Amino acid sequence: KNCSQIMGIPVPKITMEDTVHIIDQVITENKAELFHVVTLNPEITMSCQQELLLRTIIDEAGHLTADGAGIVMVSRLKGNPLPERVTGCDLLFRLLETGDRKEWSFYLLGANEMTSKMATEVISKRYPNVSVLGRQHGFFDQKDEAQIVDEIATLSPDVLVVALGAPKAEFWIHKFKNELNVRVAIGVGGSLDIIAG
Ligand code: UDP
Repeated sequence: KNCSQIMGIPVPKITMEDTVHIIDQVITENKAELFHVVTLNPEITMSCQQELLLRTIIDEAGHLTADGAGIVMVSRLKGNPLPERVTGCDLLFRLLETGDRKEWSFYLLGANEMTSKMATEVISKRYPNVSVLGRQHGFFDQKDEAQIVDEIATLSPDVLVVALGAPKAEFWIHKFKNELNVRVAIGVGGSLDIIAG
């Protein structure tokens, strides 16, 4: 496969453009199986050396992107360069742009209540053809988790944005991947804070 090995992780040599294309295809195909996009940052890359479950999550991910600048740099030094960084935040903006053209639906999970609310308002204004079907801040009680999963599954968005920090988002998506009833799920770190401004 056309990959660059980063600390034992095969990272596909794929541009932002092609990443968006892959996700577009997944949404168009409308498969039952959740497509997990993992944006590899230093935290995830380091943690998965020790954490077997995180390594499994990465191996099972539908798609991996190089979020960290260091990851791209290492790939260049090793002579098998990744084409560019594809950060969770940049990818989210690109998915909102594409989603605005293709009328995709989103659910926003994570960040604090104010950020979650403001990010939803900003997205609705800036991307009027995107529907934010629902949102939930990221400081919920464990006992409310099942209800949150139920709500997401009922709304069945095209894209589930999980802003719980890395690798918490990756664990959360993996834990519920068979129940969420979403096309694509992606951990985006602090991106909602950036969108909220
Ligand atoms: N966050 C959350 N619940 C938590 C911990 C963090 O919703 O239990 C949110 C936090 O408010 C922030 C986001 O997760 O919006 C990502 O935080 P950070 O920038 O630390 O993550 P990273 O970019 O390192 O993945």
